[in-house]
Amino acid sequence: MTRRETQAGVADFPKASCGVCERPVARFEPYGVPPRIGRCPHCGAKPRSRALHRLVRERIGPRLEAGDRVLEVGPSRFSADHVIGGRLFMPARCVAVDVRRRRHHRRLGAAGGRFVAASATLLPFANACFDVILCNNTLPYVREDHRALAEIARCLKRDGLAMVDTHRGPGTTRTADAHRREHPELGEAWFAANGDAWVYGGDFLDRVRGAGLEPAELELFPDAPDRFFISNGLKPRVRALFASRHPAGLRRFFGEAPA
Ligand SMILES: [Zn+2]
Repeated sequence: MTRRETQAGVADFPKASCGVCERPVARFEPYGVPPRIGRCPHCGAKPRSRALHRLVRERIGPRLEAGDRVLEVGPSRFSADHVIGGRLFMPARCVAVDVRRRRHHRRLGAAGGRFVAASATLLPFANACFDVILCNNTLPYVREDHRALAEIARCLKRDGLAMVDTHRGPGTTRTADAHRREHPELGEAWFAANGDAWVYGGDFLDRVRGAGLEPAELELFPDAPDRFFISNGLKPRVRALFASRHPAGLRRFFGEAPA
């Protein structure tokens, strides 16, 4: 862990704040399995959630127009409350799908979005109808993930952008069952927090390509100075995985030459 990621690093900058709730943060809290520092004590946003919120607010949302459409597959409670349900994509129309109906899905309607109970592997939408599709940290829970990726590719417009960010560890992809046998010490809480179908490795990008999408791992805030990441409680030089059917999708949101 670098100095920037430690609590001492955050404390060096007393003006740290959470970009989601916009409140000052004296000390970010531990979260996750295994625990790491970074959750906002006020709104509960984790570092990746704060990064996604800022990315959508500053880069994705402003490039959308009335009539554009955004889909999220398997929204987290945070996204339902603050991202897809937080009006950040306006004036685009938003819809979220999940195979389960959960309490946070109901709040989407109140925020002007729409929730449809459906499987990620059989999306009830026409071909090439979405400008943005988010599917973050969802695929490790989807056994037929190749079908989910193929559905994302099918529903994405030619100049649309998908975000298929997910944790990728060392080694090659294996099933969660195989990983459980290799690492009985992890316990069920680890699989509940990280995925109960797949544990992805670096070859996850091949799965994305296999669905007809071109992956691109981009730095989210390439022009920001180092202290920006510390004062916003973000991991330094945070990157995320995007995918598009055609280079026009990346160009539309990231310009001519993404990093
Ligand atoms: Zn907050």
